[in-house]
Amino acid sequence: EPNKFQAVISHAKEYGFIFQSSEIYDGLSAVYDYGPWGSELKKNIREYWWNSMTRMHDNIVGIDAAIFMHPTTWKASGHVDNFSDPMIDNKDSKKRYRVDHLIEGHADALRGEGDAAGADALLATMDQLLAAEDYAGLKQLIQDAKIVDAVSGTANWTDVRQFNLMFSTQLGSVAEDASEIYLRPETAQGIFVNFLNVQKTARMKVPFGIAQVGKAFRNEIVARQFTFRMREFEQMEMQFFVRPGSEMEWYNYWKQERMNWHLALGFSPDRYRFHDHVKLAHYANAAVDIEFDFPFGFKEVEGIHSRTDYDLSQHQKYSGKKLQYFDTEINQNYVPYVIETSIGLDRTVLYVLCESYAEEDIPKEDGSKDSRVVLRIPPRIAPIKLAVLPLTKKDGLPEIARDLMKECREDFYCFYEEKDNIGKRYRRMDAIGTPFCATIDHQTKEDQAVTIRERDSMTQQRVPLSEVREWVKLRTR
Ligand code: ATP
Repeated sequence: EPNKFQAVISHAKEYGFIFQSSEIYDGLSAVYDYGPWGSELKKNIREYWWNSMTRMHDNIVGIDAAIFMHPTTWKASGHVDNFSDPMIDNKDSKKRYRVDHLIEGHADALRGEGDAAGADALLATMDQLLAAEDYAGLKQLIQDAKIVDAVSGTANWTDVRQFNLMFSTQLGSVAEDASEIYLRPETAQGIFVNFLNVQKTARMKVPFGIAQVGKAFRNEIVARQFTFRMREFEQMEMQFFVRPGSEMEWYNYWKQERMNWHLALGFSPDRYRFHDHVKLAHYANAAVDIEFDFPFGFKEVEGIHSRTDYDLSQHQKYSGKKLQYFDTEINQNYVPYVIETSIGLDRTVLYVLCESYAEEDIPKEDGSKDSRVVLRIPPRIAPIKLAVLPLTKKDGLPEIARDLMKECREDFYCFYEEKDNIGKRYRRMDAIGTPFCATIDHQTKEDQAVTIRERDSMTQQRVPLSEVREWVKLRTR
C-alpha cells in the first residue's frame, strides 16, 4: 500500500506529528523533528516501555548514560572494526548505495514485474555473498543483474567497499591532544560499562536487568522510508544479566514478554510476527526480530538477542577491570550472560501512525456522504486524551469548560478549543487521534452534564460534569 504510506507521511506533517529537520533550509536527509502531537505520542510510548520494564519488574532498574563514551568502548564492542556496511558508488551520478539496499530495490522491481522467482534467487545469492563478505562477488552480482542507478541510468559502478556507520568528532580543543570520539551507535554499551556500578549500588542479584532509553546515531547511507531509517534516532534497550547456562530459558521468556508488550497496545495480532535470524552474529547464540506489517511490508521493529558473555568479557579484557558477579547461591564467580531487548522508539511511533490511520466515509443525515481522516491511536498513548469544547463562545460556556480543564489537566492532557463549528472541531480531534471530546452546551448549565463523543464509534453520551475526570481516566489507562 504505497499510497497509504504517502498519505500517512503527509498527514504526520500537516497535523503536527513529524517534520523534516531544518525544513526551511530544505531539510537534512534522514533527520526528523517531532511536532506537538508527535512528541506527545513518542513520550507516551517511551513511558509505556519504561514503566513496563522498570516498575513492572522487581529486578530491572534504569540508567541514563551519556552519548559520548571513552573511545576504547567501541574498540571493545567491535564497532570500530565491524560496524560497517558494504557500499557501492555509481561513477556517473556519484551516488552511494548500501549494497543490500541496492539489490533489494532491484528485487522489489523484479517482483513488481511478476518475476518473484528471480527476486528470491537474487536475494538468496546476495545473502550468501554478504555472509561470506565476498565483495567482488557482490559487485559481479550487481553487474550480472544489470542494476542501473536511478539518477544516471547507468551501470557504471565502483568496487564494493566497507563504510563505517559511526559518526566521529573531536573531544577537547582540536589543536592539542584531541582524541577522536564517536556518537554512540547504540545505547547498549552505556549499560555494559556500568554493569558493576548498577549491580552494587542498586544491590541487584542475578538475574537482573538494566534499562535505558536514549539517542543513537548511525550514518545510514540509503536512508529510506521516512522515519523507518534515520541517522539520529532513539532506542529503548534492556540488558538482562543471567547465570551462564540459563540464557535460553530467559531468551524465550523475553521473546514472549516483548511480543506481549506490543500486543497490549491493542492492534491486531496478525500485524506482528517473529523472524528468527538464521545467520547469527559471532557472539550470539540466539536472535529473533519482532516484525510489524508496515504499508511497505513486514519489517523489524525490535530485536531480542542472546549475546552470551561477549560484551562484558570484551570490556573486561580492554579495561583490565573485573566485570564479574559472585553468585552466593552456587558459590561461584562468573561473567554473566546477557539477553538483550532492543526496540526503536521512532519505528514504534511510525507503526502506530500507519496502523492508526484510516480514511472513512461517513453517511450524513441528508443521505449524502462525508468523509474523515481518523487516527485510531490506542487511547492510553494518544497525544491528547480529552478535548474540551464549549459549543459557543458566550453564555458562560467557556467558563464551565475552563473549570473542567482545570480539574482534569493534572491527570491527563486535555486540549481546549472554541474556534469553528463543533463538527470541524471533532474532525480536527479525529485527525490527531484524540479519543474523547467533551462538549459543553446550553443544557450543561441546567443538568451539570456534558456530551462526550467517542472518536472511533462517533457515538455520544451524557456524562455528569463531576464524573468526567474519572470517566476519561478509566478509559485512557
Ligand atoms: P536494520 O537492520 O533495520 O538496520 P538493525 O538490525 O541494525 O536494524 P539493531 O542494531 O538491532 O537494528 O537496533 C535495534 C532497533 O533499533 C531496531 O530494531 C530498530 O527498531 C532501531 N533502529 C536501528 N537503526 C535504526 C535507524 N537507522 N533508524 C531508526 N531506528 C533504527
